[in-house]
Amino acid sequence: MDRNTKLPETEEGTVLFSVDPIIVKHHYEIDYLHSYAQDSPFFAGLTKKKLMGSRCTGCGRTFATPRGHCMECGAATEWHELPQEGRVHTYTTCHFGGEAFLGETPFTLILVEFDGVDTLFLSRLVGAEPDGITIGMPVRARFLRNCKFKPTDVYFVPGQDAPPAAVTQPAAPTS
Ligand SMILES: [Zn+2]
Repeated sequence: MDRNTKLPETEEGTVLFSVDPIIVKHHYEIDYLHSYAQDSPFFAGLTKKKLMGSRCTGCGRTFATPRGHCMECGAATEWHELPQEGRVHTYTTCHFGGEAFLGETPFTLILVEFDGVDTLFLSRLVGAEPDGITIGMPVRARFLRNCKFKPTDVYFVPGQDAPPAAVTQPAAPTS
């Protein structure tokens, strides 16, 4: 028996933010394996610059955000390619967001309506100032070239018939 036994100690300390209560910095990291399961064709579609929704095999209702079964009649759906041009149904400008998007604030989220589609699609709108966006404004889809298999692989930009963005002219020199 050795009563002088000690645990080995390291030389690094702890980052302390506060003592009452004690708040310390603790690094936390995890790899998370996430299956898209039956939603996989939507993400695969984004890599081919396609927006995949679903259509009910019973009543024909078409869903912009795909779902396995119809919200109306409960029948199974099948995959259905959506148009890539639509209109702004509504929009909001976010001045705060989750950690992944904080650096991009303010940014604009839109709900897109498509001809022949019964539900709306949530996405980002870029290339338009918040005060230049109008309900009904035409928008078209764009896709990340280096896809990440995330919903953000698709975003929207003002469409062909959208009013041109207001250009702010620099002040004329006064000298
Ligand atoms: Zn249905």
